[in-house]
Parts: sequence; structure tokens; C-alpha cells
Amino acid sequence: MTALRYLILLAVGMNGLSVSAGLPPAAVSDSDARAWIHHTTPLPKEIRITGQVEVPADQVAVRVSNDADPLIQQAAKELREALGGPESAGGADGFTITLQLGGSEAEKLKQCKNADQAYRIEPAANRTGLHCVAIGPRGLYYASKTLQQLVKARLRDGRAVMPVLRVTDWPDMADRGLWGGDHSLHLRWMSDRKMNYGEHISSCRIDKDKRCSVHLGDYKRRLIDEGPIYGIQPVPVILHLEQLKGSGMFEVYPDLQGKDATDGVICFSNPKIVDLLAEWLVLWGKEPAVAEVDIWMSENMYGKQGCQCERCTGQDLSVLEARAIAKAYAKARQQLPALGLRVLSSEATEQSNPQVLKELPPEVKFWYYHSLFTYNTSRTPMIGKFQPYLIDAIKGGRWVGVCPNLVAYVGMWQPMTSATFIHGRMNEFVGKGLSGLIGYAVPRLYCCWFNTEAAAEWTWNAQGRTTREFALSYAVRQGYPDPEKFADWSEIMGEVSWDVYGSSFPAGELRDQPGKLADLLRNGKLPELGYVLWDVYGIPFGDFKTEEQLNRRFDEAARGLQLAKELGLDEYLHESLVVQGYMNAIKALYELGRVVGADGVTDKAAATRWFQAYVDGLKQAREHLPAWEKTLPGKRSDENLVQRAVDLLGDMSAGMTALAGGLGIELK
Ligand SMILES: [Zn+2]
Repeated sequence: MTALRYLILLAVGMNGLSVSAGLPPAAVSDSDARAWIHHTTPLPKEIRITGQVEVPADQVAVRVSNDADPLIQQAAKELREALGGPESAGGADGFTITLQLGGSEAEKLKQCKNADQAYRIEPAANRTGLHCVAIGPRGLYYASKTLQQLVKARLRDGRAVMPVLRVTDWPDMADRGLWGGDHSLHLRWMSDRKMNYGEHISSCRIDKDKRCSVHLGDYKRRLIDEGPIYGIQPVPVILHLEQLKGSGMFEVYPDLQGKDATDGVICFSNPKIVDLLAEWLVLWGKEPAVAEVDIWMSENMYGKQGCQCERCTGQDLSVLEARAIAKAYAKARQQLPALGLRVLSSEATEQSNPQVLKELPPEVKFWYYHSLFTYNTSRTPMIGKFQPYLIDAIKGGRWVGVCPNLVAYVGMWQPMTSATFIHGRMNEFVGKGLSGLIGYAVPRLYCCWFNTEAAAEWTWNAQGRTTREFALSYAVRQGYPDPEKFADWSEIMGEVSWDVYGSSFPAGELRDQPGKLADLLRNGKLPELGYVLWDVYGIPFGDFKTEEQLNRRFDEAARGLQLAKELGLDEYLHESLVVQGYMNAIKALYELGRVVGADGVTDKAAATRWFQAYVDGLKQAREHLPAWEKTLPGKRSDENLVQRAVDLLGDMSAGMTALAGGLGIELK
């Protein structure tokens, strides 16, 4: 008997466990398998755990060929780390995981979507190990991630419970990632959820001697230096082209400034912009880790004047811009034939996007972005009646991705844990054939761990978990005390918060349209239920289509708050108090609309009650926003991210209190 076998048998004898390596795997019941699989995210497409083998963790060997791709080496390294450290050599009595690139077992994977990221895991022929195969290194990396999640879930006191399982898995969407914020400080976190893509705005400059440079500073640079270690593709961004004034281009080439155009707006008929963009593209393309660059087209052109030179006048300026980008790309590829390009649209290009797409070579990947349509929390589908050209482009073979917010509202940070919101969005994107996501998870990832993980979940496996199943599995992974109750809470509050924020409440008050709520009420101009001005300005009832729905959400918010109290997790308690405060205010506003209008008050008692309920709701939210921020796991500094929302709620409350006062109603 070898020493190893002796040790295992000794352990079996002491613990009463019935299995060890070298013996047949123990059975795993269906319910136990389900519980184990909760630890995976995203849920693999096909996974069946048929047994388990318990072994000392240091007797699990992970085998890769010595000359394997760095990402495969990383896959093995992470798996060993998940098992608690460096492995022994394994051996005849140990448990061996092999990571194999290619081979006949990998053939079937070629039929999978995004096949280079697909993988299979099968029990080894001798039943004391697992065999992982993939077509590409990324596939093996994701096989490792799945095993890491399962192994970590049941590692105790140096003993590993190894699943015996069959998995076939592949992602629905090719590129799953984030842009901006602090995501490059969380690359491992992203990769652990099989996210594989990141973008940061780079600094692109030209000095007075016409020397060009490109730069990503500080924490952003980590995307390039560390992203590839974790299978994350780093893509530097050349910022929206009307915002490059700081690049020095107008000092070197004054005639690049558009004629009689707003400051910073470029003349895209000037060939120097082609040369400049091409230089920046090449500089980035020479970075070994950079395979693609993303050029963001001009945005914020509302009220701005484009170039009025004789070559630009009368032309579609977005088309001229796209043409210049296409020329720059062609020029850059003379030096770097393999360089890839992505182009991001904007609200300024929206009307011209069909023509923009015609200007761009078919291999250029297209990110759909629009500051009002994709930074939007409404329940209305994002790729809708205004974007048939995107569907046409996808059908024509173009790679199209999208840049949506994953948080309540961009620019005003508030709590929104909403599985239903993310599930709805990601299923829309996958269902419509989009190939990529760059979510905006800001201002810090710790403000939106749940929604970001949900985005990773459903961009990989859109039809896998239901919203409830995801919330339940999230709670299990987080170690929350009552995962079922968390799932109950998530199901309720996720729907309430989607309707609240989907109706642009309260942040829509910052916009000029449709106006301040107190003014609208005073003038009898409160929008009807379900009304969304110009399809984008939904405050205050845009996603509340019926009175029944509004009253139901009002009741559900109270129920959600009760569940949050029972959960005993401060983060969700404060979130619930904020969202319920908003919901109460929306309900109160609706009721006020019945008794207050241009002709004054028709029922003073009711008006008094609902004015008070409105300001009380806002007060509740205002008080619990800072408390929510303080409880967020991962918060590292005492920065105050919610202040803008707190200030807005104060203003809204003051406006409504003044209106009530003018009507002879004093509020507490
Ligand atoms: Zn011009």
C-alpha cells in the first residue's frame, strides 16, 4: 500500500466517508447537484454532475502541456490556487484534471456559437479525473473557471470534493465586458464571471513637433497590462472626436477646426484628420496586447454647428466623419494589416447610422450607443422602432454590439438590484443577434456587483437561469444566510425598481423636459400613466402603464421592505427604503394629480395627505441613500457618490412644499 493510499483510507476511516480516489465516485443526488451548481456563474449551458470523489486537495493534479498558451497555463494556475495551493505530482491514487487543446473530442464544439470559447468537461476514462477539451485557449480557461467555482464551493480542511460531471458550454455573446469606471481594477473578478472585454478612454496627443503619442494612465493601464492574463481583451478608445481639443491637434493643424463650427468640431473633409487618426491607430496597434481600437464618433452635437467649409456644407457630417475614420483605418492597416477597428455611434450620428454603416468596411465592428436610447432604464426594448438598420446590419453579417447602462441612471448613483432589468436587456440583445456588450457599471463596480454579475450571466447563457434562480444562486455564492428569502426580495424589489427608474424617477427632474414635477402638477400638466415624451423622457409615470400596476408596485415595495428587514442585510435594507421612498412619492404624485391642478385644489384633505406622503417618500429616500452607500461591500474610501441624488431630492421636496404652501397646505 502506498503512503498516499494509506492516508486516504485513514481519512475515510476517520470521517466515515465512502469514497476516495481510486474508488468509484459516490453518487450525488439531484438536489445536491442543483445546490452545487448554484456556485457556478454563468450557468453552463449543459451541466450534469453524476458523482463526486473526495481527495486531499494536494493530490489533485492539473495537467497541461509545457508549451501551452499562456492563457491555458493561467487556467491551470488558477485551478491549482482554487485547490488551495501548489499541487503534488498527483499520481496513481490522486485525481487528475487534464486541459487539452484540440483533438477529436473537441470536434463537436465547432458547431457551438462562439466556438473558440466553448469547452467540454468529461470524466476521465479511468474515472479518477476530469478531461477538459476546447478548440481555443479561452475555452480551456472557461472550463477551468467552471471547475474552480465548483471546487471552491466544497473545499474544506485541505480536502477537495471533486465533481464527476459532464459539461458542454459556450457563450451566447462573443464579447462580454465593461467600459470605463473602475473595471480595470477588477479584471480577475470580471474573468471569474467569464467576462472577456474592456475599454478605457485613452489619451491621444500630437505635440508641436508633430509627434503623436497615445497613453492610458494609472489604473486604466492595467487593462492592457493585466487584462490578457485573464482572457480579457483590452481595447483603447479614441474619444468622441469632437472632444479632442486637448490633444493638441488644433495647435498643430489649425485648419482641422471646422470652419465657422463650434469649438472642437473637426472638419472631416480635411485629410489631416485621416493622417492623425491613422497615426494614433498604429501607435495603439503596436502595443502587443492591443488587437483592436475603438473610435467613438462625435457626440454632444446638439445645438452645435458643424464645419461650414465648402467641402462639408450640405453634407451629412456623420457620413463625412465615418468616411474619414474608414480612410484612417485603411491607412493604418497598410502598416498593421491585422489591426481591428470598432466604431461607436452616438446620439449625434443616430439619424445617419444607416449611412455610417455603409461607409465602414464590413469587418469594422459597430457599437451601438446613444446617450438617451442606450443609457436608458425604460422597459421599452432598446433596439426598437428607431433601429431597424441595426437588425439589417446584423442580418448582413456585421458584428454589432451595444453600450447600455447596468445601473439605475448614468450620472446619478442610486441603488438598483434588478435581475429582471438585466435579464430583460440581455435577452433582448442576445435574441436580436448582438455580438457584444460594453456595459456601463459605474461609478464603481461595488455600487452594482449584482447587476454586473447578472449581465455576465445572461450574456453567456441568456435562457439559462430565471431571474429568481439567478438571485438565489447569487445569494448562495455570497454566503447570504437565507438565499430563498433573498430571491423573494429580489423578485419583488427588482420589478419595483425597474418601473421606478424606468420612469426616469427621480433623475428625469434634472432634464428640461417635460419640466419640474411641482410645476407640471400646478399647471395641470402631469403626464398620463405610461406617457413617455418623445420616447425618452418618462418621468414620472412612463413605465407605469395602468393604475392597477402602480398600486401593485406600491404594495410590493412595502412587502419588499419587510423582506429586507427579515433578511438582515443592511445593504438591501437601505436600498429597499430608498426604492420604497421613490415608489411612495410616485403613488402620492399620481393621487395629487386627481385633486390638484390648474384650477387649484378640489379636495383639500386628500391633497394634504398626498402632499405629505410625497415629501415623506422623498425624505425617506434622501436619508437612506447615504446609508446605502456606506454599507456597500468593497467601498474603500469615504467619497460621497450619492450627493447629487440627495441634493435633487431636497430640491424636489422644497418645490412641492412651496406649491402646497401656495395652496394653503402646510406640510410637516
Ligand atoms: Zn469642412
